[in-house]
Amino acid sequence: MSIVIKRTTTKNYEIVTIALDAFTYDAEFRRIRNQHKRQYSSCFSCQRNFTDGEKTSLTQLRGMPNELLCHDCAVKLQSELDNVNKERDNGNK
Ligand SMILES: [Zn+2]
Repeated sequence: MSIVIKRTTTKNYEIVTIALDAFTYDAEFRRIRNQHKRQYSSCFSCQRNFTDGEKTSLTQLRGMPNELLCHDCAVKLQSELDNVNKERDNGNK
């Protein structure tokens, strides 16, 4: 048995856009994704596994490959993104 130090690191990812409910997570989606390295079987934000027939949202992250979000995370993050963009637009007036 070895003694280890376990550390969890936190990374920040800047959202550029979110396409709400862009894909349905189903057998066809899994068939297509099986040909690729990444399976995209869970939400990038809350890490919950997608269930069959669930709508998933595509998010574009700055300097990163696109990721998938569950509906609830996508709605919440889109609302926060809208507020940030609104504040930025008001600041430019
Ligand atoms: Zn989520």
